[in-house]
Amino acid sequence: MKIKNCLLTFSLIVSSIITTYYATISTAQQGAAQQPAVVADNEYQVGAVLFMQKAAEFRALAYQAFNIARMRFDADFDKRNLKKLAKAERQMIRAVVVDIDETVLDNSPHQAELIKNRMPFTGSIWTAWVNRREAKPIPGAVEFLKYANSKGARVFYVSNRNEAEKQGTIDNLKAVGFPDVSDETVLVRTTESGKEARRQSIAAKHRIVLLMGDNLNDFSNVFERKSVGDRFAEVDRTRELFGEKYIVLPNAMYGDWESAIYEYGRLSEVEKTAKRNAALESY
Ligand SMILES: [Mg+2]
Repeated sequence: MKIKNCLLTFSLIVSSIITTYYATISTAQQGAAQQPAVVADNEYQVGAVLFMQKAAEFRALAYQAFNIARMRFDADFDKRNLKKLAKAERQMIRAVVVDIDETVLDNSPHQAELIKNRMPFTGSIWTAWVNRREAKPIPGAVEFLKYANSKGARVFYVSNRNEAEKQGTIDNLKAVGFPDVSDETVLVRTTESGKEARRQSIAAKHRIVLLMGDNLNDFSNVFERKSVGDRFAEVDRTRELFGEKYIVLPNAMYGDWESAIYEYGRLSEVEKTAKRNAALESY
């Protein structure tokens, strides 16, 4: 009987050691899979993401942008305005050119995911988000673009999403009701991130009535890779165009405004934090 008890105790101890060993290994493996190589300081992003997700003011700004777009679009049908154009231009089909991210689709859940997991932006995490096809439309975007399209304008979606992300993007845009979405109208990034060549290819056959975006590069290449100060200067120089041909959507989460603070450098997370803090203007 004693030997039997000893054997039972021994086998219990052995099985408990084996279970603990495998549980530890499996937890370590899971941890390794979930833990990103670089821990990002995304705390500064919390306010920007919450503003997009929780501020009714963001919603109001988005409606304001698309309401102004509609006013400008309608004004383009005014005969007095049309008379100012050359005849050839007058006969061209109208086009409304929109950026996609943070202009017509809301990617704040992707940003929130990065904050929660303390992860930096990476192409693979971004592509995985795009392929979920879950981005919701920016308030007012679907309605305005459907209206413009119903009045005969073509809608072009000019984005720096890449070729591998194109089908997911088309599916997402269609699923939430955007009009005129096709292989031909969704112009993704191929060789360069600058959008001028794509704008020109649209302008060759259409008259671009409006450009809409959350990044100055969505409007003109004069803003590209400029310093913080030069971006201000270019906006001052072109001020008449905002609310006229250029309609801006707010994006405090990311953009060239932030890259300009980093002087477009490939910086470490620590260096970025230092640049941000150094850029703050206090009294
Ligand atoms: Mg954008």
